[in-house]
Amino acid sequence: MTTTPTQQEAEPDDDLDSALVTARRQLERAATHVDVDPGVIERLKHPTKVQQVSVPLERDDGSVDVFTGYRAQHDDVRGPYKGGLRYHPEVSAEECTGLSMWMTWKCAVMDLPFGGGKGGISVDPKALTEDETERLTRRFAEELRDVVGPTKDVPAPDMGTDAQTMAWFMDAYSMQQGETIPGVVTGKPPVVGGSYGREEAPGRSTAIAAREAVDYYDRDLSNTTVAVQGFGSVGANAARLLEDWGATVVAVSDVNGAIYDPGGLAIHEIPTHEEEPEAVLAQDAPETISNAEILELDVDVLIPAAVGNVITADNADAIAADIVVEGANGPTTFAADTILEERDVAVIPDILANAGGVTVSYFEWLQDINRRQWSLERVNTELEEHMLEAWADVREEVEEKDLAWRDAAYVVALSRIAEAKATRGLWP
Ligand code: GLU
Repeated sequence: MTTTPTQQEAEPDDDLDSALVTARRQLERAATHVDVDPGVIERLKHPTKVQQVSVPLERDDGSVDVFTGYRAQHDDVRGPYKGGLRYHPEVSAEECTGLSMWMTWKCAVMDLPFGGGKGGISVDPKALTEDETERLTRRFAEELRDVVGPTKDVPAPDMGTDAQTMAWFMDAYSMQQGETIPGVVTGKPPVVGGSYGREEAPGRSTAIAAREAVDYYDRDLSNTTVAVQGFGSVGANAARLLEDWGATVVAVSDVNGAIYDPGGLAIHEIPTHEEEPEAVLAQDAPETISNAEILELDVDVLIPAAVGNVITADNADAIAADIVVEGANGPTTFAADTILEERDVAVIPDILANAGGVTVSYFEWLQDINRRQWSLERVNTELEEHMLEAWADVREEVEEKDLAWRDAAYVVALSRIAEAKATRGLWP
């Protein structure tokens, strides 16, 4: 079934907005800073298409459950839709639509030839066995077969999915198409067309963004303290790199809570969520604090790298960090953003900070099309170059228009998208 996106304006509601409400408010706010045809802004408030599918699953005991899956395709003026597939109980058409909008901006800020998409299944992945996850993924790939493809819409891992999920998706799609088509998804294991460095890329770009921000505000990484909420791939890789580059990571957390050592944690010794789930609290550290407290620590850099909506109007006044680098997608609500801006806390937005993931996805897509794998060194060198170019483009807007980093990133993205729309025109 294809649902028509609602044409209604999202009404402001309480602080814990859906991704869609936040994305639309951010778009409206950014539109005031850029000279773009209001018709383009109006078009960008609505996704092109939101696909909803039923995904039946035969459980290991022979019973059948039916889950709902989605694929939101926001805008493809600059290239195929691109973005993750999320397995999480809160996945909905609305959430996927908001997240797909962020992907449109993210790809445009990074100047990648992609638009924005996002999808997923409303399911608790922890409640599935590996065999069940495989069957669910294969059936989902079949249900989405008409709307995805290397030149149409290219999914990738997101919350609750990983490289293996992408391998199953690619295999199911390829078998039905009658040929191996690795470029239908990115984030695959390197042995089946994945890119070296893709897994670490969102954490690497988050670390690069933190490093550049520290430098921009005339500080030295070797005198910088960092707290990281979330020790999955993004948080752990960002923390490890920042430590390698001289920063002191004083606190990290997982879903159960945080460990804190003002003198610095031995960050490389803490297993990531993927290496050993929920291992943070089992580590030796002088202090254990809560997931709420880690956000309020008096550090130089705070990296929320777990889930969305963790910095809200309720705690924005208590954020003591000078720089927030968004490793997760949407960790700061619209209301919190305004408070942080008034308090002169620099927020480096998700669409720039964690964009290493989709950037290396682009490299993977190029490698798949060319059937030629890049070395890890080449991936990391080109990622660094892309990040520094995007950083410079956004910084220019920050300086020229005296904007917050998020608004500046939106201005860069919107200008590119609007120019492409104006050049292609509206048809018919
Ligand atoms: N899910 C990731 C994100 O939110 C990556 C998307 C991709 O690589 O296509 O940026």
